[in-house]
Amino acid sequence: MKPWNLLLLCFAFTLIGFAAPAPSPDWDALGKQWWSHIQFLADDSLEGRDVGSQGFEKAANYMAEQFRAAGLEPAGVDGYRQPMGFQVVKIDESRCALDLLSEGKAQPLKLGEDAVLGVSSHAAENVEAGAVFVGYGLTVPELHYDDLAGQDVKGKIVVFVTGGPADMSGPVKAHYQSGEERRKALQKAGVVGTITIQNPKSAEVPWSRMAAARFQPRMELSDPGQGVPPPLPVSILFNAAHAELLFAGSGHTFQEILADLNADKPLPHFPLTVTIHARVAMTRSEAKSENVVGLLPGSDPTLKKEYVVVSAHLDHLGIGEPVKGDRIYNGAMDDASGDASLIEIARAMKASAAKPRRSILFLSVTGEEKGELGSQYFAAHPTVSGPLVADLNMDMYLPLFPLKYLEVQGLGESTLGDDLRAVATLAGVQVQADKEPEHNRFIRSDQYSFIKKGVPALAFKFGWLPGTPEEKTFKAWYAERYHAPSDDLSQPVDLAAAAQFDAILEKLALRVADADHRPEWKATSFFRRFAQ
Ligand SMILES: [Zn+2]
Repeated sequence: MKPWNLLLLCFAFTLIGFAAPAPSPDWDALGKQWWSHIQFLADDSLEGRDVGSQGFEKAANYMAEQFRAAGLEPAGVDGYRQPMGFQVVKIDESRCALDLLSEGKAQPLKLGEDAVLGVSSHAAENVEAGAVFVGYGLTVPELHYDDLAGQDVKGKIVVFVTGGPADMSGPVKAHYQSGEERRKALQKAGVVGTITIQNPKSAEVPWSRMAAARFQPRMELSDPGQGVPPPLPVSILFNAAHAELLFAGSGHTFQEILADLNADKPLPHFPLTVTIHARVAMTRSEAKSENVVGLLPGSDPTLKKEYVVVSAHLDHLGIGEPVKGDRIYNGAMDDASGDASLIEIARAMKASAAKPRRSILFLSVTGEEKGELGSQYFAAHPTVSGPLVADLNMDMYLPLFPLKYLEVQGLGESTLGDDLRAVATLAGVQVQADKEPEHNRFIRSDQYSFIKKGVPALAFKFGWLPGTPEEKTFKAWYAERYHAPSDDLSQPVDLAAAAQFDAILEKLALRVADADHRPEWKATSFFRRFAQ
């Protein structure tokens, strides 16, 4: 029997428990605090945070200072920084030309309107080659699917439309469409180059904006790590609206290919009658940039050697072609929003004196817009010695309306999806799987650098239901602001909802860091193959 005074004491504690529930956070104030970082990072004075620019350096200084203020330990190579070098190539279009040769005649194409010439450290200056249409241009060994099979592609340029067969799963399609996987198969087949036609079904940005991006310098890591295949000598992006030019005389039309594609029928494969003649001129230089890395050390003597990574990218597109008189690509949502969340999550952990068992690494990477280069560099050259056990990546999660639904890429792939469901449910937020798998978002940001090294990962978007104003807002954002100068400080954003998102990510990171077992890929996951 318990003494009566102890009973009373228990009762009193219970009363206190009921009488003083944790006060609801002031989401508006937290949202403003979050926005204040974006006001700094996406200000015109940072000139769009291009890799290697002064604006990026200011942004990196800001992140390091905010990480320090949030109590994170430096976890780079040089303080909070992890420097790396880049090879830079920039197109000199006045000295470039692209012709279609047929029956001894050359038809010059209009660069920027018909097509765009890609440059790389391996770009050939002058190539004349036959061309073969190869459907989706995919090679998927485990499905015995090969668009190159039976085609004479050696020494040729292959022409393909992005996407893949309807009956191929999203992750498989996405993985084998990644530049690296494509290059492996194409190089093995002796292909000299590619002409990519953006599938109009999944085009996110209008041609004009894709074309405007061709003057951006292209960057490659000086030290990409092992097993990364080099670029092909020729890479051309063709305007889908002008693609008929390529098919003239072949006995096929692009119209007919699109009809097959829209009806989910297999695409034909056939040689084109035109020969491609590409002349490419470019300037070469070198650049330096860095990731910014902060650490909240784990409290468990064993588990602290395991690291939960929370990541976002710090770079954006810099200064580019003007749109409506604006040349600065501020990248407020893409991805200053994610960096602001990194800071706020770290601050919240400091405020609550969180002592997670595993270590949590806050990683703000460079070079995402150049092809996830900073995260690739980090994954190849980690600055910590223990294993990375998860990556929670925030790349323009788009808090444009209240947070009722959270769309999660990678939801069904690993146990991280179950963790996310648990914390979202507690917050009263419903979880959705990727609604637009044709956009390949799971492999299109920094989480993929970790996934390829076997690390389970998640990525996030604010969710919506079809047919709602939220769907309209979300899609309008892509059409109007994605990779445009209008992704700036003047756009409407739901600050309180962003703060609620930060709170969910904070709880998710802590839950994963505190769990008895580290996250695992599901037995059925395509991505499990990368786990060592
Ligand atoms: Zn971007």
